[in-house]
Amino acid sequence: MNHPIHRYSIRYLVLFLCGLLLTVPFLVQAQVPAVRRDPGLSAMLAQVSTDSLQQYLEKLVSFGTRHTLSPEEEGRGIEAARQYVLSRFQSFEAGSEGRLSATIDYFEVEPNGRRVDREVRMGNVMATLQGTDPEDDRVFLVSGHIDSRVSDIMNATDDAPGANDDGSGVVALIEMVRIMSQQPFPATIIFVAVSGEEQGLIGAAHLARRASEENWNLVAMINNDMIGNSASSGTNLRDNTRLRVFSEGIPLVETEQMAALRRSTNAENDSKSRQLARYIKEVGERYVDQLEIKLIYRNDRFLRGGDHTPFSREGFTAVRLCEMNENYFQQHQDLRTEGGQQYGDLIEHIDYEYLRKNTAVNLAVLASLASAPGAPREVGVDISGLSNATRLRWNSPENGTASGYYVLMRETSDSMWQRKFYTEALEMELPYSKDNYFFAVQAVGANGAESLPVFPVPVR
Ligand SMILES: [Zn+2]
Repeated sequence: MNHPIHRYSIRYLVLFLCGLLLTVPFLVQAQVPAVRRDPGLSAMLAQVSTDSLQQYLEKLVSFGTRHTLSPEEEGRGIEAARQYVLSRFQSFEAGSEGRLSATIDYFEVEPNGRRVDREVRMGNVMATLQGTDPEDDRVFLVSGHIDSRVSDIMNATDDAPGANDDGSGVVALIEMVRIMSQQPFPATIIFVAVSGEEQGLIGAAHLARRASEENWNLVAMINNDMIGNSASSGTNLRDNTRLRVFSEGIPLVETEQMAALRRSTNAENDSKSRQLARYIKEVGERYVDQLEIKLIYRNDRFLRGGDHTPFSREGFTAVRLCEMNENYFQQHQDLRTEGGQQYGDLIEHIDYEYLRKNTAVNLAVLASLASAPGAPREVGVDISGLSNATRLRWNSPENGTASGYYVLMRETSDSMWQRKFYTEALEMELPYSKDNYFFAVQAVGANGAESLPVFPVPVR
């Protein structure tokens, strides 16, 4: 059979497919921002080692319990674990040419009638990698929590290995300090293993208050809490190819003026923490293969909080990184076997390859931020006249040197920035209406590292 319609359909189908093939590269180009891996950063990421992570974690769980109220003993309890993490941090000082210094920031906590029943000394183990530019006062902070728990939150003596919650976050810090202390960054990075998370975010609250009182120029804070488990409880899901980043759309603290500006510019999806989350997704996926970073539009899991939350409450830009699926058989559980099910946060459940990738995301983001120029200042969108074009202007960053800027653009209904327009000027006009798109501006350094994006305010 040689039906004419049949012949024509095939011809049109072939033409259509050819057209599609020609169009696809342009569609892809339009959707994906420029991707260029910095070779120096890639070399650092290649050093993140599952062997190191495992070795640190084996030592960390050997302290039996790291409960915040555990008694001080030789080789057991939270203080012995703090001394171990301190000793690891300090062991990297020698190779840092004087840039790295480690210490424990101790503080006394009074009984509070909740999860602290006696006066106790707590401590945050801190490694500070001083920036090389004396003019640059920016600080980037990354945390994990050293304390662990079992079923009863006040049980300070039973074994609580806390391998994943949050041994995974703490060993990620140690591994980053090992690698990053060998490299100079213009801005300062602080790695901190906080105490008292399970007793009510006490160590993080202490540090957030201190950063606020001492007026740190703290640009971004990243909390790592549970980044090494890839098996979900109650389902057969296994996922070591996705990582969650939690960020709130509306800042936890807002002045009336900030709220009014947010409402008038429809910025409910453009808080600073959301910009940080998008940055983590873009840079993390640029550098780490076989990992998708999933933006979760909330400060933390449903009705829960973490060590970034006190920083959000102090008005800092803070997010939480967390594994895709949690395992409640292993979280906050007494070690036991019940009905054939094993309970407890044991080290044998750690997925080191997943932990390696998640550590690499942190490293890529912190190295990029600390080597990028600061964000552009006074970023404004021109509203002096009605126009279908969008005019943006800004000033150069306070810290570092911008070799250029990216104007970012996305559909109002889209989650991620879709286009990046490069310029070396301090303004740009785009033939796209500000009614139909959102815009932001980020600075970029000679090495290609970008600052956090800044959402513009209306200017005349
Ligand atoms: Zn935790």
